[in-house]
Amino acid sequence: MKYAIALGSNLGDSRSILESALNRLATVVARSSWYQTKAVTLPNSPPQPDYINGCAILETELEPLELLAKLQQIETEFGRIRHQKWDARTLDLDILLINDVVFQTETLEVPHPRMSDRAFVLVPLAEIAPDWKHPRLNRSIAQLLQSIDASDVKKL
Ligand code: ATP
Ligand code: MG
Ligand code: MG
Repeated sequence: MKYAIALGSNLGDSRSILESALNRLATVVARSSWYQTKAVTLPNSPPQPDYINGCAILETELEPLELLAKLQQIETEFGRIRHQKWDARTLDLDILLINDVVFQTETLEVPHPRMSDRAFVLVPLAEIAPDWKHPRLNRSIAQLLQSIDASDVKKL
């Protein structure tokens, strides 16, 4: 199965955390550059450090929920502590796309429901998978990127 995943970090030594997390995933077939991006926060919450974000393509036999469990295990290994939604974190690993399928359970929704309006996802993903079609929206990653403002996403 082919997966697109998003990686992000805005606490600790983000760059080395992200590199190490990628090295924990044996089946990376493509990876983007790293980008510096502005944190998305909840209203009235204090400002957060900028993020480093990137994307990767994985080829693996793992089923979707098995991959999610593995990603969450890696998040925990790198010191992810869950406080409030969208809090600063050492590592966030999200599943963006799986082949051309729509997958929805209590714990996993793919395509990731917020990917299409996130420049910090679409910019790195367009670097490695511009023609991958979003199966709900029927538009490619490159096309989705054209319809949003990506000026806050800076290549490192
Ligand atoms: P966002 O989903 O807006 O990017 P987040 O990544 O900070 O927020 P987390 O705290 O990492 O959210 O995850 C919350 C829950 O989201 C997880 O426990 C997981 O079960 C669920 N989830 C649903 N769909 C996905 C997905 N596509 N990838 C990763 N987690 C998902
Ligand atoms: Mg996330
Ligand atoms: Mg997450």
